[in-house]
Amino acid sequence: MSLVAVGTMAFDAIETPFGEVDKILGGAATYISLAASFYIRPVKAISIVGYDFEPHIIESLKARGIDMEGVQVKTQEKSFFWAGRYHNDMNTRDTLITELNVLANFDPVIPSSYQDCQYLMLGNLAPQTQQQVIERLEKRPALIVMDTMNFWMDTAMDSLLKAIGMVDVLVINGEEARQLTGQYSLRKAAHQILDMGPAFLVIKKGEHGALLFHEQEVFSAPGLPLEEVFDPTGAGDTFAGGFIGYLARTGDTSFENMKRAVIHGSAMASFCVEKFGPERLMEIDQRMLNERIREFVKLANFNL
Ligand code: AMP
Repeated sequence: MSLVAVGTMAFDAIETPFGEVDKILGGAATYISLAASFYIRPVKAISIVGYDFEPHIIESLKARGIDMEGVQVKTQEKSFFWAGRYHNDMNTRDTLITELNVLANFDPVIPSSYQDCQYLMLGNLAPQTQQQVIERLEKRPALIVMDTMNFWMDTAMDSLLKAIGMVDVLVINGEEARQLTGQYSLRKAAHQILDMGPAFLVIKKGEHGALLFHEQEVFSAPGLPLEEVFDPTGAGDTFAGGFIGYLARTGDTSFENMKRAVIHGSAMASFCVEKFGPERLMEIDQRMLNERIREFVKLANFNL
C-alpha cells in the first residue's frame, strides 16, 4: 500500500508550564510522517521548506523512511514558523506567531512516483491546497483522510466545505466539530458532518481520547492517563499519522479496522506529548509501541 502525507514542515517555538524551546522541528507533515513511518515505509511527503531547513534535518527524516521527493526546498525564503504558549491545563493554547514564509506561495507538486497513492493524509493546510492535491492525483486514492482547524472555518468556509465533501474521513477536535456545525452535542454535530460527505468522522478529545463515528455507529477510544505530559504540540497530527499508517499497513478500511486504527493513533499521540516537539517520536521503537497498545486494550477492557 502506498501512503502520501501532505502538510507543513516547520520550526516551532513552544512554551508550556514545564519549559520552553525557541526553535524545534515541527509541522503537521513532520508529525504525520514520523508516526506513519512506524507502520509503513516509505511515507511519501508533500510539503515546502526554506533555506533554514538544513540538509541534516532532511537526511534524518529520510533515515526514518520518509520520502522527501515531494518536499520543495526554496533557497530564498524561510520555513513556516509557528509559536505557541500552552495554558496550565495543557489542553488550550494561544498562538503567538504564525509566519507563513514559504507557505504563502505553496503550490503542491506531486512527483510521478507518488501517483500510485492509495492512502492520502491531508494535514491541516488551506482547504484550496488540500483540494489541489486531490485534483492533481491521476487516480482517486482508496482512502482520503483530512485534518483542518477553526482558522479555516473563520476565513474560508466555502472551500473548506468543498474539501470536506471530497474526503472519506475527517479528523477534528471537539471544539472544531461544534464550530463547524453550531451543535453542542457531539453526536448531533457528528451526524451533521457525516451528511457533508465523509463516511467516517474522528473527533479528538485531547487527553480524554477520541470518538469514531460511521452511519449510526460510534466507538470511543480512551485517553491513557500519563505520568508525564510535557508538550501537546503535534499530538493531533501524530494521531492522524498513526491512524492512517495502521490503515495503510492493513489495507482494510472497514469500521471494525478503523476502531483499531483509532487506538493506534491514540497510542502514537500518547508518546508525542511526553517530550518537546517530535523528540519522543524519534526515540521510541516498535516494542515500546506494542507495549503501549496493550495498555490501551487493558484500559478499556471489562467483563459484563
Ligand atoms: P497540532 O498540535 O497537532 O495542532 O499541530 C501543531 C503543528 O501544526 C505545529 O508543529 C505547527 O508547526 C503546525 N501549525 C501551526 N499552525 C498551523 C497552520 N496555520 N497551518 C498549518 N500548520 C500549522
